[in-house]
Amino acid sequence: MTTRYADAVVCGSGVAGLAAACALGRLGLDVALLEKTPRQPLVPKGEVLQPGSLHILAEWGALSALEERRAVRLNRLVARQPDGAELLAMDFGLLGDERSWMLSHTYETILDCLGDSLPGTVRWQRGVLVNDIVNDTDGRVAGVRAAVGRSEFDVRARFVVAADGMSSRLRKLSGMTAAPVAYGHRLLAVELPGPPAAADEVSAYITGRGLVMAYPLPDDRTRCYVQVAADELRNADAARLRRWCDELVEDVPALAPLARRLQDAIGRRHLLKVWRYWAPSVVRPGIVLVGEAAHGVHPLAAQGMNTAIGDAHALAAHLSAVDTQKSVEVDRALESYEEQRVDRIRDIHVMSHRAARMMTSTSRGGRLLGKRLLSGTARSRRLRHQLTYNLSGLGMRPLSVLDRLFQLGVLPDRRAQPFPATE
Ligand SMILES: Cc1cc2nc3c(=O)[nH]c(=O)nc-3n(C[C@H](O)[C@H](O)[C@H](O)COP(=O)(O)OP(=O)(O)OC[C@H]3O[C@@H](n4cnc5c(N)ncnc54)[C@H](O)[C@@H]3O)c2cc1C
Repeated sequence: MTTRYADAVVCGSGVAGLAAACALGRLGLDVALLEKTPRQPLVPKGEVLQPGSLHILAEWGALSALEERRAVRLNRLVARQPDGAELLAMDFGLLGDERSWMLSHTYETILDCLGDSLPGTVRWQRGVLVNDIVNDTDGRVAGVRAAVGRSEFDVRARFVVAADGMSSRLRKLSGMTAAPVAYGHRLLAVELPGPPAAADEVSAYITGRGLVMAYPLPDDRTRCYVQVAADELRNADAARLRRWCDELVEDVPALAPLARRLQDAIGRRHLLKVWRYWAPSVVRPGIVLVGEAAHGVHPLAAQGMNTAIGDAHALAAHLSAVDTQKSVEVDRALESYEEQRVDRIRDIHVMSHRAARMMTSTSRGGRLLGKRLLSGTARSRRLRHQLTYNLSGLGMRPLSVLDRLFQLGVLPDRRAQPFPATE
């Protein structure tokens, strides 16, 4: 069996692996980036980039490529009634940051732009399945065993980055755990030609059937997600799908301008399961988990891909402070990364899950509570600003117990109006 050598092996070239390879390559490290699929599968996921990610992508040279490919600026995330009336608007413009907006593009294009920004020290190979971990005599991870077809080889490295997604083989092999919990619903994703009703926002409609989302994609397209029950469209024929589209527009009249396009596109729908989990530990000597290998959240708050980009950026910052040719120092950097990053991952998980509970409940009680929380938040400029900031990826100021009581309207928020001063 042959052995290759690198400073770092990155397993998986979804957004987390590409981001990690970008960040580590920029430290001058020789990176082997290994991906099992020969081609990027076209999946409608990971399309909204938050301001925090835009800064990182700008640093890596990937942002200008996205802008050249006509990424769309989104200024607001708005929760709406089924008829389109506003319940809560989170205005990113009020963040007062250099890049106070989100960007949308297809996952495929985001990956392409990251791939084009990879430094010359990254060797990216597709069609390579990582099968196992290679350990040193002292049990430290020292590389991976991989295969192209039947031909196996080892790649030895100072450390391994597991970016191999939710079912991460490397997570299991290195003895780390995550316990994914499936949400009770699915998301039906469909891409429509033409613009959505609101051209510069992510619209989230809170309806009796759960969450419906719409936002623009480049080249005059609309992404639409509809919450559906697990078996809602099982074995649906064309007539059933037509009726389903009619019923959807009846339930959510704000979608009326999209009705015809929805009918035409429904045959090309994707049905996606949604999960939440986070690994309490993301590091062992010689290996670190990033992206969905480490955490998964409901897509509603658009945090998964953004957290993966943040993971890569933070990891490189910790490694930049040590001599990466020395395993002991690498392990020290991985430990300090874990110490800081796991708290942020947990906060993002809690925020995304609360948002999902607030906006996807289909029970009467759950919907009433969700609307109460939304209108309580809408009444307080301070809370709106804090939530927008937390979503943006620029930082995290978790809500306190008092904030939750303000949201519920149980206590008046005396600081509701004066903050932020810029509004
Ligand atoms: C419907 C939906 C919408 C979403 N929208 C957003 C959004 O707007 N914004 C946002 O921030 N996030 C969003 N997300 C989340 C986001 O898509 C994910 O967090 C992100 O794609 C995870 O990237 P990843 O690289 O960690 O995992 P993946 O994309 O799963 O990549 C893992 C890669 O590893 C490879 N791999 C696996 N095992 C091996 C192996 N043994 N050897 C070699 N290669 C291997 C796989 O082939 C794959 O390419 C959404 C998710 C869904 C489901």
